[in-house]
Amino acid sequence: MSFAQVQGQEMAVGSLRRALRSGRLHHAYRFEGPAGVGKGMVALALGQALVCERPVEGEGCGQCSSCRRAVTISQEPPYVPLHPDIIVLERGLYSSLGKDLDEKQNLSTEQVRRVLLGRLNFPPHEGRGRLVVIKQAEEMNASAANALLKTLEEPPPRTYFVLITSRGRLLLDTIRSRTLLLRFAPLGEGVMRGILRQHKVAPEALDSVIELAGGSVSAALDFADAEETAARQAFVDSVKAALAAPDAGEAMALAAARDKEKESLRERLVALAVSLAREGREKAMAGESCGAAPEQVSAALQAVRELERNISPALVVETMLLRMRQAMV
Ligand SMILES: [Zn+2]
Repeated sequence: MSFAQVQGQEMAVGSLRRALRSGRLHHAYRFEGPAGVGKGMVALALGQALVCERPVEGEGCGQCSSCRRAVTISQEPPYVPLHPDIIVLERGLYSSLGKDLDEKQNLSTEQVRRVLLGRLNFPPHEGRGRLVVIKQAEEMNASAANALLKTLEEPPPRTYFVLITSRGRLLLDTIRSRTLLLRFAPLGEGVMRGILRQHKVAPEALDSVIELAGGSVSAALDFADAEETAARQAFVDSVKAALAAPDAGEAMALAAARDKEKESLRERLVALAVSLAREGREKAMAGESCGAAPEQVSAALQAVRELERNISPALVVETMLLRMRQAMV
């Protein structure tokens, strides 16, 4: 893993490389951007730069034992990098260490104390520096975040932080103000195409997967799953059939049958929004009225947001169908 291997994030990577070369690395960064665009890869490349035994222009060589252990994950739980100076925090990552770390909802104060603060009393084990990576940092509860504040403001010597989040607005202001923002953009179509080919996504699926994925490789790989693709199409078709039905009964039956796993429903709703938008666009280009398409697209996107707010899947679909039907009147 090196900075050169990260594609499509020239701004963020360029900024870190310049800081490393000039010896002016900030002590705490906040990587914000969609999931699956390379934030974790860049954090690991930064980790290598900090622990490498033979750095080249401030960056990790990628070859030495330290560089390799920085990006090699333990075979046994907790699944963290083998190098002791790369410290990763994430909700649930240390559940093997005891019941109090079996975190269902939040990254807990207990994890911050036990995994991080206890170790920071000692200097880095072997590296020239050490890196603390906090994944999905917005999942820290308020007391965990507060336990971190002082250290974030005045870290021990040679200690650097990267907080990773795809939902930066959920971070406490006190955390935001103590970290330097590096924004990660959704990946462009060309970059996506190249990466998905490397992942052996079927060529005939590339266009539709890229259209759905919003510049995120992880989302694209989820969308590329063949079985799920069929289920998603069935969902889109059944919503459209329900909307075309003369009475609301069929739509309600559909909603009742939709108490599905949240993540797959999310993908199906996104697929629905994209499909409705495409139909609207095609009609408009053919000079026809695009009808209720704009309202229906926003109803589907609103459903995605409601799902993220933990509203029950069945209720989300039911409400969406009502809004879509109202838009047709
Ligand atoms: Zn190295």
